[in-house]
Amino acid sequence: MSDPSVHKLVIIGSGPAGWTAAIYAARAQLDPVVYIGVPKQDPGPILPGGQLMLTTDVENYPGFPDGIAGPEMMDQFQQQALRFGTKIVGQDIVRCDFSTTPLTLYTSKDEVIKAHAVIVATGATANWLGQENEMRLARSGGGVSACAVCDGALPMFRDQPLAVVGGGDSALEEAHHLTKFASTVYLIHRRDELRGSKIMRERFTSKPNAEVLWNKVVVDVLGDEKITGVLLEDTKTGEQSELTLKGLFIAIGHTPTTRFLQDSGLAFDDKGYIKLETRASTTNIPGVFAAGDVADANYRQAITAAGMGCQAALDVEHWLGDQNLI
Ligand SMILES: Cc1cc2nc3c(=O)[nH]c(=O)nc-3n(C[C@H](O)[C@H](O)[C@H](O)COP(=O)(O)OP(=O)(O)OC[C@H]3O[C@@H](n4cnc5c(N)ncnc54)[C@H](O)[C@@H]3O)c2cc1C
Repeated sequence: MSDPSVHKLVIIGSGPAGWTAAIYAARAQLDPVVYIGVPKQDPGPILPGGQLMLTTDVENYPGFPDGIAGPEMMDQFQQQALRFGTKIVGQDIVRCDFSTTPLTLYTSKDEVIKAHAVIVATGATANWLGQENEMRLARSGGGVSACAVCDGALPMFRDQPLAVVGGGDSALEEAHHLTKFASTVYLIHRRDELRGSKIMRERFTSKPNAEVLWNKVVVDVLGDEKITGVLLEDTKTGEQSELTLKGLFIAIGHTPTTRFLQDSGLAFDDKGYIKLETRASTTNIPGVFAAGDVADANYRQAITAAGMGCQAALDVEHWLGDQNLI
């Protein structure tokens, strides 16, 4: 049977994946301990509660017909996990050693903890330009976002001039998505050629309300409470110009939050996301499971992250049972 000084399950991360895993694990009497993380830049903002702490209205999560603010939704997830006895620790996990069992984790307060099973649910940070006004308007719901699929359909963006910053396939996908709602969608690209595939380029540029602004970078985001436009600079001539906008979507990639796992022995895919094995949440290391955006380069939605959190908790329960640890 299990050594009582060793946790049955440690969950790293307090976004939709981590809290959902905690709800399932707590109800299954796995006594989960959630390390919720501390606020940091890595390279974008990472907060306890996850990426939804950076958004106002979540309109696509089932069960909230009138929508719900991201931070409020994460508070409700947390309350639900607490109700079933989840323990919460307000620290980061800064390093993991998964080479021996039980698994060893090191916390930001220099504590060493042991666990039979770990669920990594540390998400992926949307990359931002890193400008003060951009982040201020993103946090306040002022019309700046890093997720067009999530926010593009909000009423504030309907029939308005919008812009996407980027040039890869995901920027083209986001820009194409916005052509359904916007009066004009500008794709702001710093070079004179797009990185995205031919088919994606054609899908976007064939739309009558699509326009690519070549050789341009955003040097400032304008507006007090709501975005009114951006200040652009031409990368060839250095000339500056203003573009009137009602929405700005940053699509310059995501960075999976895995730096603290580099020496853990976990396998990653070619984009740096945790590589999953054939069963839904299993990794290359027995007892280590992953859920949510940290292991999902494709969907990156709250509902898919929550679903993966559920799968991970169920997989942990089976695995601990198979090992006679519960
Ligand atoms: C601006 C914006 C708007 C969005 N809007 C929507 C929307 O409307 N609908 C929708 O479905 N999706 C939306 N998304 C996507 C959604 O936020 C993500 O898909 C979802 O949050 C992923 O959940 P997750 O649990 O995998 O990771 P995250 O939510 O990113 O949570 C990661 C957690 O890990 C913690 N953490 C990180 N490193 C450590 C560490 N070393 N130790 C301990 N903890 C750590 C963090 O503190 C955080 O709690 C939006 C994203 C953005 C950026």
